[in-house]
Amino acid sequence: MKFRDRLYRFMQGRNGADEFARFANGAGLISLLIALVFTVLSAGLASRSDAASLVFRILYWVFYFCGMGLFVYSIYRSLSRNVYKRQAENTRFLYRKNQFRRKWEGLKQRWKDRKTYQYFKCPKCRQKMRAPKNKGKIRVTCSKCGEKFIIKT
Ligand SMILES: [Zn+2]
Repeated sequence: MKFRDRLYRFMQGRNGADEFARFANGAGLISLLIALVFTVLSAGLASRSDAASLVFRILYWVFYFCGMGLFVYSIYRSLSRNVYKRQAENTRFLYRKNQFRRKWEGLKQRWKDRKTYQYFKCPKCRQKMRAPKNKGKIRVTCSKCGEKFIIKT
């Protein structure tokens, strides 16, 4: 039997590398790269400052273990036979990733029009809104709950 066929057979009924596993893998790699930086810093300072060298040494081990842990978790996910549970976790992960991305896009937009728009929240339902700046006092109607209030722009 060819290697590919053997691998295919081995992976049958297993979860495989889903988005969450690939994310853990990537985060593990970044963590190990950071660990590498700390080990270089630690070695560089070894002759000059014992305390700083020790701190970098500890940080190296922290990132090293985190990185390795993430790698192991990524492999565990890929090989897991409890596909149902892993898929539920993956769905939650994708949901959070999407939430995070939306928040990030919102912050980027807010930074982009920080000179032209003022951002504020509805006092009743906390809905986020924006209005053009420097228009004096304006009357706002909440787009979500219909609450009317006045803001200074
Ligand atoms: Zn509202």
